[in-house]
Amino acid sequence: MEFGAHLKTAGGAYKAAERAGEIGADALQIFTQSPRMWRHPDLDPETAERFRAARTANDIGTVTCHATYLINLGATDDRIYSKSVEALRRTMLAAQAYQADGVVFHLGSHLGRGLDAALHQVVPALRIVLGEGNKRSKTRLVIENSAGAGNTMGLTLEDIARVIDELGRPKRIGVCLDTCHLWATGIDIRDPGCVEELVSELDERIGLDRLVCLHVNDAALPLGARRDVHADPGDGLIGHKLSVMLGHPKLQHAAQITESPGPGPDGPDKTTIAALRRLHRAGVRRHARA
Ligand SMILES: [Zn+2]
Ligand SMILES: [Zn+2]
Repeated sequence: MEFGAHLKTAGGAYKAAERAGEIGADALQIFTQSPRMWRHPDLDPETAERFRAARTANDIGTVTCHATYLINLGATDDRIYSKSVEALRRTMLAAQAYQADGVVFHLGSHLGRGLDAALHQVVPALRIVLGEGNKRSKTRLVIENSAGAGNTMGLTLEDIARVIDELGRPKRIGVCLDTCHLWATGIDIRDPGCVEELVSELDERIGLDRLVCLHVNDAALPLGARRDVHADPGDGLIGHKLSVMLGHPKLQHAAQITESPGPGPDGPDKTTIAALRRLHRAGVRRHARA
């Protein structure tokens, strides 16, 4: 089982790998560019090499790269659409150089047209990105479930499964489930029955092996608020019952990565990772008793 956090790359991506080691994490998520900008910097081989060395030295297993938040594969504006494809393409190239396990991204918004109307542009975009770089690379494109603001796509497992099916179910498409986003869309993951239903649906529609990571975020807003405000694991409105999902026996192959604010300006720290591990242990015990 791997536990980690999204960490800052100020000073170089290798710094995030070093910090992951310092705080007791064995999984890591980073940005390969500024998450609120289009421009993706060129990645020089030395930076990637340094990151890979720090990853090995600090025993980091799963590494994911989160793409910019600006991406909208459902954009009807040609300029935004092509920028979105380009940003995702460049993130995939950087992630391959880092030998990351996945590029986590959001599908974007169908702008009120519905997922069906937007699929004809989502699917070719993902094909382009999957064809990028080394075809034998293990870096997967990882669709994250959305929190439900606006007309976002990927709100439900059904939506995500549609996209994967239309693509022809390639091996290199994965999924990431964010606990705060599930909560925001009205799925009460404190309830073991709800989690059971969710896991069965994931198994049947998508396949458990496609689950690359969980984003373990607590929620600062009430169930079904359709807005995404993260809290530290165990400290939000989901609270200690986050353990129900974290300890589920069928989810143990996926890295548990938090994107929580953390106690200080450096984001998640030792106490955050320790809290994550405690919640997970409590969840495993809960399932053993059930
Ligand atoms: Zn997330
Ligand atoms: Zn979020």
